[in-house]
Amino acid sequence: MNVTNRISRKLHVVTHGCQMNVYDSARMADVLRPLGYETVDSPAGADMVIMNTCHIREKAEEKVFSALGRLRVLKEESGGRMMIAVTGCVAQAESELILSRAPYVDLVVGPQAYHRLPELIARAHRTRGSVVDTDFPAAPKFDFLPEAAGHQGVIANLTIQEGCDKFCSFCVVPYTRGAEASRPAGSVLAEARRMAALGSREIVLLGQNVNAYHGAGADGAAWGLARLLDALAEIPGVRRLRYTTSHPADMDDELIAAHGRNPALMPFLHLPVQSGSDRMLAAMNRRHKADAFRRIVARLREVRPDMAFTSDFIVGHPGETDADFAATMALVRETGFALAYSFKYSPRPGTPAAALPQVDEAVKDARLQELQAELRRQQDAFNAATVGLTTPVLFTGAGRYEGQIAGRSLYAQPVVVESERLLTGEIHEVQIDFANPNSLLGSLQKERVAA
Ligand code: SF4
Repeated sequence: MNVTNRISRKLHVVTHGCQMNVYDSARMADVLRPLGYETVDSPAGADMVIMNTCHIREKAEEKVFSALGRLRVLKEESGGRMMIAVTGCVAQAESELILSRAPYVDLVVGPQAYHRLPELIARAHRTRGSVVDTDFPAAPKFDFLPEAAGHQGVIANLTIQEGCDKFCSFCVVPYTRGAEASRPAGSVLAEARRMAALGSREIVLLGQNVNAYHGAGADGAAWGLARLLDALAEIPGVRRLRYTTSHPADMDDELIAAHGRNPALMPFLHLPVQSGSDRMLAAMNRRHKADAFRRIVARLREVRPDMAFTSDFIVGHPGETDADFAATMALVRETGFALAYSFKYSPRPGTPAAALPQVDEAVKDARLQELQAELRRQQDAFNAATVGLTTPVLFTGAGRYEGQIAGRSLYAQPVVVESERLLTGEIHEVQIDFANPNSLLGSLQKERVAA
């Protein structure tokens, strides 16, 4: 009989920000599981709380500090037993501020050091003081972190690349996540095989600059993203592939061609352009022009006519004039987006654009409203155009109401249908009957999409 006498501890993880943070949070839980940590839904009574933070949005630090204030109360109620760790980009960028404003925090750990969590926890216990690890090690953390341990669901995220060398004027990622590093192709494929064996059918490849991927292959040569996607599509059970977030400067010929030849690759791409003005793109240090973005869109539509796009926009970057903004609106109208995210520029401490004279807030507000109204109109038109069409839907589980099941279209739109069977993990043809602002309602068609 195999008797294990493991101490059981409760771990609560709070995740802010992007899908990469969601992925990292799951990996941190995996790293701590061998120490007896099981994840729980509430911080009350937890032995350890990890706050995995994001630095992208405005007032990120303030949100972290107010959440830490609430955790402090719980830590005091536990007699000091609860350990608090701050991880993610705010930890990387603001470790000193965290320790001075919240000295009850036990660990401040940057994104490159998650694999060292067990050792850092032991050190914090030993010293009964705060431990900081925000080093960028020579070897990327991919070499040390365990692969995803459990089933993530029908749609699974898989980080293949981290960091960024682009240094856009408004972005903290190169400072908080370090230089671009790609995970070896063999390790990505092994994790994808395991995900597929556990029931995942759609794999979303993640990276801050994912299309700059250049992971080492078994033959020693660097694989680009196109080659990796081709190999992933060969894995039994993998039906759909997506990748995010891409940079226009890294959309090479191979990757564009892959969209034409790889049927598992969904006809849907998130390609941030940020502005339609070359003057602003230069000021943002984006390393591409508006016409380069237009050409990529046109070439992708050429190889895959049903291709649709999402993007990111920043309005009110320092120096943006009415003419620059008009160029952005022109690009938006020409391109036609299925969905897009748009934000007012807000200075991030330590980034070059933060030191420049800022655009008036009222001007930024007016431009954002105009842009968002157009993007909303395009999103509604895109969704409305699906009504009456029959399209393959990958079902992910039960819907919100009894008798409903939910899934995702080719364009990642949530689709809800009525069905007596759950059909989880299966792809079926669905006729779209109605488009809500953020989801589609449809009816199941008889035939099932071939494997
Ligand atoms: S490419 Fe993306 S992650 Fe890199 S600096 Fe620019 S905005 Fe940030």
